[in-house]
Amino acid sequence: MERLDQFMARANAAYYAAHDPYRDFTTSPEISQVFGEILGLWAAVVWAQIGRPDPVLLVEAGPGRGTLMADALRAIGRVAKDFQAALRLHLIETSPRLRAVQAERLPGATWHDRLDTLPDAPLVLLANEFLDALPIRQFVRRGGRWMERFVEAGRFVECTLQPPPPNPLPQGEGEDIIMELNEPALAIGRSLGARLSARPGAALFLDYGPERRSNGDSLQALRDGQPADPLAAPGCADLTAHVDFAALSDAAIGAGAVVHGPVPQGVFLTRLGLFQRTDRLARTQPLARASGLIEAARRLAEPNRMGRLFKALALGSPGSSTPPGFEG
Ligand code: SAH
Repeated sequence: MERLDQFMARANAAYYAAHDPYRDFTTSPEISQVFGEILGLWAAVVWAQIGRPDPVLLVEAGPGRGTLMADALRAIGRVAKDFQAALRLHLIETSPRLRAVQAERLPGATWHDRLDTLPDAPLVLLANEFLDALPIRQFVRRGGRWMERFVEAGRFVECTLQPPPPNPLPQGEGEDIIMELNEPALAIGRSLGARLSARPGAALFLDYGPERRSNGDSLQALRDGQPADPLAAPGCADLTAHVDFAALSDAAIGAGAVVHGPVPQGVFLTRLGLFQRTDRLARTQPLARASGLIEAARRLAEPNRMGRLFKALALGSPGSSTPPGFEG
């Protein structure tokens, strides 16, 4: 019998070590190059806002194939040469397989297993669909008590909480409701909060999940591109859960950071000029590629596609300016 987060950590480590995850899912940077370009320019503006520290760490957590960062660096190299000269690239990645893919596209980067080993310096961190892959715990309310979900032989079993529920205690009324707790995401929020309160910097998370805390089981699995039973075959499917942006914000604020958003991804990208940049790029391309680029931008931004479920959340240092895309 294994606690759900231990099961999920083991399953995802095996999955990312053995599979090309992009056979099973696609992500925003793989959909349009403009996504990474915009995030690169976001980082350049934020670097100017925090006083142009040199050196500055440009960090990506969970870089996947390295596409987002390659697109970001190309855009930075074109319009922000001083940022390009000041930045030191650091990547947080546990999968040896994906590290090898990233090394080909991002020569000169330094890799880390976790945030804690990053050098002590001002930083700008980007993370797309990183937090959703981190392991969650689930609690279910039965007979007025919280039970925790464990996994045994491909099924959930419920155990009385022993020791008592961790902090923050899952809140909620009623029977049979499920609460989720992403402890690694909260630890990242606290660790970044502490860093940002000690040194200038910012972090941008794009991920999917509701704005406010909500109850329910959001654990999902994709296997061979199809929804699958998350417990059935650990290591054969990509397991994710919705990100609790409110809990992440609270953790970062508690450690001294300021928080901006969350803002729906469609609003964020549109404010940062997704459609203008796409149009400009499309004009230089043959017709089929041009319409592909425009369709890709719509997929990222339209509310009934990725524009609303996905959100952008920024963490900043106390007293820092509002970063681009979070005004209003
Ligand atoms: N950001 C990329 C990839 C998303 S998939 C994109 O948008 O395409 C999740 C990424 O996080 C993968 O690179 C995966 O190997 C990495 N990852 C998952 N769990 C991790 C962990 N606990 N620590 C560090 N990286 C992790």
